[in-house]
Amino acid sequence: MKFIKAWRQLKAVGQAANEAAAVASGGPSYPSQGFAAGLVNVLADALAPRIAATAERRGGPLPGSDSAVADGSAWTKPLAAGIAEIQARDHAFDVTLLTSFAGQVFAAVAAVWAGADAGNVRPVMSDAVWEPLAAATGVRGGLGMYAALGQQQATARVTGLHAGTWYDSAQVTMDVRLGGQPLPPDVPPGMAGWGEEWLFQRSVPPGGDPMIRPPACPSCGAPTEIGDHGLCLHCRAPVPYLTAGWLVTGIVSRNPVYAMEHQALADQLRANPGILQQLPPEMIRLLPEDLRAEVTGIPPGALP
Ligand SMILES: [Zn+2]
Repeated sequence: MKFIKAWRQLKAVGQAANEAAAVASGGPSYPSQGFAAGLVNVLADALAPRIAATAERRGGPLPGSDSAVADGSAWTKPLAAGIAEIQARDHAFDVTLLTSFAGQVFAAVAAVWAGADAGNVRPVMSDAVWEPLAAATGVRGGLGMYAALGQQQATARVTGLHAGTWYDSAQVTMDVRLGGQPLPPDVPPGMAGWGEEWLFQRSVPPGGDPMIRPPACPSCGAPTEIGDHGLCLHCRAPVPYLTAGWLVTGIVSRNPVYAMEHQALADQLRANPGILQQLPPEMIRLLPEDLRAEVTGIPPGALP
């Protein structure tokens, strides 16, 4: 089957590939399940968290962020102007300290891919960024090509600052390379270096550990109750989080290898609609928007 061939070529699967092979050969691992169902399970259990943790876009601005942060226009003003905005409400703000903090966070995340406890970075990440990282690195049976992420090193540069209604936001550009030991021969050349934009945010009134909703909606004053779309049930306004300090809330990665691999997987899924229709919702959320629209019938951009 074409899909299996391409899927094995992903090299992302390690132990999962062996399980899939057992399924394909009618082996004893999944005696009562069909081939597609077994494959869907493997994807959901092992591959999906890794795709989520290495996706081109991970997390995003917290609810209640200014639209200028969501659309990127906040980063077009001069850095000095952003520094002045934030210093206007925090005289102690020092951009060199934030730069060095961001570099330390990056190194700590690389250490998680190299085997350190994902709990080490829990205090400095939003739920949406941390949860897939913890799930991906917690899968037993080897990380396959994703283990190379343990060798990441980066130089951090603060490239944008914005003092918003609810949050201070910082865009940090990471110039990433794979350092340390010489690269294994099976690591593709595109893995040698790439750029990433990390979004750091902190709430203006601090709170949470690392993040929590306030007890009452700041827009309407009702006790906080969040509906399906992440909005206040009473007034439909976004309810901002309180954070303990600066958190990584979004990552945009330009790693060419994972982008290519994920596209190849999406193409194979598109060619095999039977498998596509059986994917669990958490896997469907990871698919590119146009493909997701095909599965769900919901137009691109309409899912939260
Ligand atoms: Zn409200």
